[in-house]
Amino acid sequence: MRSVAIIGASVAGVAAAKALRAGGYDGDLHLISAEQELPYDRPPLSKGYLLGQQSEDDILLARREDYAELRIHLHLGAPAQVLERGAVWLAGGERIRFERALLATGSRLRRLDVPGGDLSGIHYLRTLQDARALRAALGEAERIAVVGGGFIGLEVAAAARQSGKETLVLEAMQAPLRRVLPPQAARAIAALHERHGVHLVVQAQVVAFEGDGHVRSVLLANGSRFPCDAAVIGVGALPNDGLLGGNGQGVLVDKHLRTAAEGIYAAGDVARFPYRGMAVRIEHWDIARATGEYAARAMLGDTAPYDASPFLWSDQYDVTFQYFGHGDPSDDIVVRGDPATQNFIAFFLREGAIAAAFTAGRPRDALPLRRLVDQAAVIDPRALQSEDVSLRRLSRGE
Ligand SMILES: Cc1cc2nc3c(=O)[nH]c(=O)nc-3n(C[C@H](O)[C@H](O)[C@H](O)COP(=O)(O)OP(=O)(O)OC[C@H]3O[C@@H](n4cnc5c(N)ncnc54)[C@H](O)[C@@H]3O)c2cc1C
Repeated sequence: MRSVAIIGASVAGVAAAKALRAGGYDGDLHLISAEQELPYDRPPLSKGYLLGQQSEDDILLARREDYAELRIHLHLGAPAQVLERGAVWLAGGERIRFERALLATGSRLRRLDVPGGDLSGIHYLRTLQDARALRAALGEAERIAVVGGGFIGLEVAAAARQSGKETLVLEAMQAPLRRVLPPQAARAIAALHERHGVHLVVQAQVVAFEGDGHVRSVLLANGSRFPCDAAVIGVGALPNDGLLGGNGQGVLVDKHLRTAAEGIYAAGDVARFPYRGMAVRIEHWDIARATGEYAARAMLGDTAPYDASPFLWSDQYDVTFQYFGHGDPSDDIVVRGDPATQNFIAFFLREGAIAAAFTAGRPRDALPLRRLVDQAAVIDPRALQSEDVSLRRLSRGE
């Protein structure tokens, strides 16, 4: 292999480039980015960076000199426009030939198409550019409306409260995160935000923003109107799968992360990969890193299948949430600890086996939980529930 092109320079793309060099790859290495900035990390955009605790330098995935040292040819502000067998065309007309390519184009924002949606003061959060604008708005605005109680919306709400702003969260379902979490866990998160002074409105369907050029209020389908001087919309993301003719479902890969197109792999948010009999697309940092690294190793000849369990974290106020595996809120749920204390684990059991675990305030349990999920362990629910039974021992089969 003498030439590799990586399309998309975020967590998955940068991890793949580094792993190729770490694995001994010595040929041409192109890392192609639609964005102008040096590749950066997204999770801090709704946390430390938004709060002013981290600078733009702090969140870089690698320094400029690292790319030179690793002989990574970085193409910034050069979106790939056409991907064909053995070559990719960039905006600007450059054609890069490759023997292997990695599609790591991630995802883009889903927009909320309602009247007034283009007023100034309405923000989305995906890129550093978005985060710069939102950070400035958080400094000036007094009343922030967050539309969408997903992980990113809730992190923004926490940052807004920590900055002393009046904060409203408008969530379409019965509770924030209810699409992915069981009711006990979703209620606990709602309570955490309310305790910090967030005004949470559920079953809220936003139908319009109103203002005089700048947003002044948000209107719901039931006629309620809430004043605000900035709004942040967090209603999900869509995969950037167009280069391979995708239909918005992500790019299907096999257990070696190969797409149907010869020589082309996919990793990160854009990839839909096999996991326990399903084909899943999961938009989380650790999966992007792990699949990026894996794809690099697969290009170098590693034939082990990709079978890591998904993992995500979210920081809200002083609580860290972690999620291992891939559960469904309709699975059987067993809870250890008291959700009201923000110190608990919700196990998702499918046919008796642990499919996933969601935790609040329990970083020390990460290792055994990851093991239990990896093993799809079958354990008496009473043992899972009881704080007297050590998870470490359960995970070792003791
Ligand atoms: C604000 C925020 C906070 C988050 N917090 C967390 C968290 O706490 N925990 C967690 O697990 N996950 C978190 N995530 C999710 C995590 O950041 C993503 O899962 C991860 O960034 C996905 O990485 P990726 O490399 O697959 O793609 P992306 O990060 O989406 O990057 C893809 C890159 O490819 C570029 N691109 C797209 N099309 C082209 C093209 N045609 N040519 C060239 N380049 C192209 C894009 O411009 C982009 O730069 C957060 C995401 C956001 C936005």
